[in-house]
Amino acid sequence: MNSYTILGFNKQLLEKSITKGDLVIDATLGNGNDALLLAELVGADGHLFGFDKQEQAVAASKAKLAAYNERCTLFCAGHEQMQALLPAVAHGKIKAIVFNLGYLPGGDETITTLPETTLQALDAALALLAPEGFVLLTAYPGHATGSVETDAVAKFLQELDFSEYMVFTYQLLNNKNHPPQTYIIEKRKNRFSKQSE
Ligand code: SAM
Repeated sequence: MNSYTILGFNKQLLEKSITKGDLVIDATLGNGNDALLLAELVGADGHLFGFDKQEQAVAASKAKLAAYNERCTLFCAGHEQMQALLPAVAHGKIKAIVFNLGYLPGGDETITTLPETTLQALDAALALLAPEGFVLLTAYPGHATGSVETDAVAKFLQELDFSEYMVFTYQLLNNKNHPPQTYIIEKRKNRFSKQSE
């Protein structure tokens, strides 16, 4: 996989940032491809929590993660419920939360992530992160709902408090066909102040 494509970039970022023993969340399980990478990276001492609102996606992910059953907890539930469903002991300790927005590839394309619930989930995700933990979100502006959703996500992220979060974006700038767009939101270890940086 070319490391400069969006998916190649995402994979490299996860491989470089996640270490054995980490707690991570896949907020959109889909067919379980991202979840499989995450489960491998956290190792036997780490844990992956996964969410998808479609049973078909949870079943596909469960099958893909069969070898890593003990280090995975999968919820058939909307990611907007992640704060309520995650065990309290994991709150504030999550190293990485991955969102791959849109619809299930090969599934019903009318069942897709939606701006309102995505923003609720992002808000919950930020609260669950450990210091220096991050959200990796990929949005797809190439379809109608995805375009509205990408704009809503960008607006939400632009307004995040810079003293608490750093927001980066990665995109293919010269492709006119609305390619996917990645956002990385890192939670600062300490509140930013002029003295600390
Ligand atoms: N990460 C996946 C993979 O590796 O195969 C791809 C994810 S797919 C593009 C998007 C998924 O988001 C779909 O499976 C869809 O059911 C799910 N989804 C839509 N709305 C959701 C919600 N509110 N909460 C959780 N998952 C949702």
